[in-house]
Amino acid sequence: MGNPKAFLTVPRQEAGYRPIHDRILDFGEVEQTLNTSDRKLQASRCMDCGVPFCHWACPLGNRPPEFQDALYHGRWKEAYEILSLTNDFPEFTGRICPALCEKSCVLELTIDAPVTIREDEAAIIEAAFREGFIKPREYPRNGKKVAVIGSGPAGLATANQLNMKGYEVTVFEKDEYVGGLLRFGIPNFKLNKAIIDRRLEIMKAEGVVFLTGQEIDTKRLPEGFDAYCICTGTPKARDLKVPGREMNGIHFAMEMLSQQNRVLAGQTFPKEARINAKGKNVLVIGGGDTGSDCIGTSIRQGASSVTQIEIMPKPPVGENPATPWPQWPLVLKTSSSHEEGCTRRWGLSTLRFIGKNGKVTGAEVEEVEWEPEAGTGRPVMKPTGRKETIKTDMVLLAMGFLKPEHPSYPENVFIAGDAATGASLVVRCIAAGRKAAADIDTYLGGKGY
Ligand SMILES: Cc1cc2nc3c(=O)[nH]c(=O)nc-3n(C[C@H](O)[C@H](O)[C@H](O)COP(=O)(O)OP(=O)(O)OC[C@H]3O[C@@H](n4cnc5c(N)ncnc54)[C@H](O)[C@@H]3O)c2cc1C
Ligand code: SF4
Repeated sequence: MGNPKAFLTVPRQEAGYRPIHDRILDFGEVEQTLNTSDRKLQASRCMDCGVPFCHWACPLGNRPPEFQDALYHGRWKEAYEILSLTNDFPEFTGRICPALCEKSCVLELTIDAPVTIREDEAAIIEAAFREGFIKPREYPRNGKKVAVIGSGPAGLATANQLNMKGYEVTVFEKDEYVGGLLRFGIPNFKLNKAIIDRRLEIMKAEGVVFLTGQEIDTKRLPEGFDAYCICTGTPKARDLKVPGREMNGIHFAMEMLSQQNRVLAGQTFPKEARINAKGKNVLVIGGGDTGSDCIGTSIRQGASSVTQIEIMPKPPVGENPATPWPQWPLVLKTSSSHEEGCTRRWGLSTLRFIGKNGKVTGAEVEEVEWEPEAGTGRPVMKPTGRKETIKTDMVLLAMGFLKPEHPSYPENVFIAGDAATGASLVVRCIAAGRKAAADIDTYLGGKGY
């Protein structure tokens, strides 16, 4: 612990986002960075708690007290080495993790101002790339081969860990680029795709083979491998099966988000296939993170207005007694995209879409209330009869993803990430990939962790 009084004297300082009027004009990352001395000051706020709840909350078991102490003292290489022991890709989590660690930080409980762990992590990994601490390494080969199916964070972490253990790893990816939802789901304004490419260059130089444009039938896995890891994510979005769903102008969120990321990667689409919010009144159905990404994307495309509706009630603001510290608080979240301008409404169920000449012009919605079910306490939806029509030219369905079902596989086939758990978080998928790699290693006669 560098400065035992810093948490009393140094206020939490976030780098913050670029100004709204500037950032909505492009798809560049919205988050800024602090200068080195302010960053070190932020790291100095860590109290090196006897029981570090930040560590407890991190699915990867990251060690914030140790890496923040090294950062505070300017020992960047050491900070990087501590961080990379538990996290294969801090450059992803440092940008887009909701930072479960920070909500569990003891300074969140005591003064409502946790240590800026996520930003500190991002600063360490960026310094590591900048200073050349991260160079491709050679690992002795053990003569065994593993196939990883899917190249999202779970597949990448599995591949990275197995490669380091000496396996020959081939990653099969159905898309034209590697990265899964990092590449095609998460917008560039949250994660610049050059950040993925930079890591892929290292992994390729270290021996991982990536085969893109290869959709694998998971019932007939490619031959010649000692083990397999299925990391195919949650490809099926939840649909809204109401009258009018078939009309033009209604899209799954991922159709729009992935197309926008492809356009930013230089691909072109015929005008009739382009999903563009320019000049449109956009209605986003679904109040979660995917919905939020649709808002930011619509705003950058030039939407006239954006409305986001959610069927569940508005979450409590600030604190929720149902999820006390150190749990992740289920409270109202306002993302950078929400700040950029949208109307948010809760407790609205969509009854049908209305349209003209096959094109959507509105959505009929009904206010709903939620009451706890007698006995179980589970919330049950009660329609109120209060209906209205929201005018819209473009609807984006962001209501989550279906948990995939898998056939029963032979014992040398493992499953990791969203494919195993249903939709989750990048940090959980990296952790799952690391765990799968350890399990595969144990199965193939290695020592696991
Ligand atoms: C819009 C959006 C925004 C998000 N934002 C965040 C965020 O800010 N922070 C966060 O922590 N999480 C976020 N998430 C969640 C996070 O992206 C996912 O939890 C994570 O990417 C899942 O990783 P995965 O490796 O399991 O699967 P995926 O990332 O879904 O990757 C699966 C890969 O498998 C490939 N594949 C599928 N089937 C086959 C096949 N048969 N053969 C070959 N390849 C196949 C797919 O093409 C894909 O590349 C977001 C999700 C979405 C949709
Ligand atoms: S809980 Fe917060 S203050 Fe305590 S060790 Fe972790 S980051 Fe530091």
